[in-house]
Amino acid sequence: TATATQDLLLSRIRDVPDYPKPGVMFKDITPLLADPVAFTALTDALAELCVRCDATKIVGLEARGFILAAPVAVRAGLGFIPVRKAGKLPGATLKQAYELEYGTAEIEIHAEDLVDGDRVIVIDDVLATGGTAEASLELIRRAGAQVAGVAVLMELGFLGGRARLEPALRGAPLEAL
Ligand code: AMP
Repeated sequence: TATATQDLLLSRIRDVPDYPKPGVMFKDITPLLADPVAFTALTDALAELCVRCDATKIVGLEARGFILAAPVAVRAGLGFIPVRKAGKLPGATLKQAYELEYGTAEIEIHAEDLVDGDRVIVIDDVLATGGTAEASLELIRRAGAQVAGVAVLMELGFLGGRARLEPALRGAPLEAL
């Protein structure tokens, strides 16, 4: 059942207090990645979401989003596209700035990886403030593609990411396993 899978996934996430700085409870997915049963269950569940929202391509967000999105892409038979921190992609990119707690950050995508008519699902491990996911949806639309949805392993509800993301989703689903 869905609940058994959720229990398994939850049991493989380690809470690390005060990392990377005081007051932050870091959700460490490395125990989950190290458990092939849990990692497979997560990959299958995310692949099912990709099918359900009719995605044609999968965007993974640097860096842990890459680890989750790549096997999902293979499982779902869809292309994988990295969204990276600025300055890492060698080709022609689109760049998007977004607000952090202190200052701004920039992410990039290879512009030619998406085409008109693509329906893109964004995958990451944790939805926190939603800033990174929001910027990625901006990139997808600027590249001429549609947003099929956002899928994350965990949503930190108290940070309000879902509300922040809602306008950018334009009705597309946000699924947190
Ligand atoms: P945000 O843009 O605030 O939604 O932050 C998203 C990125 O930061 C995601 O890629 C997460 O991997 C990472 N992140 C934020 N907060 C946490 C946390 N408490 N535990 C683990 N990762 C986090």
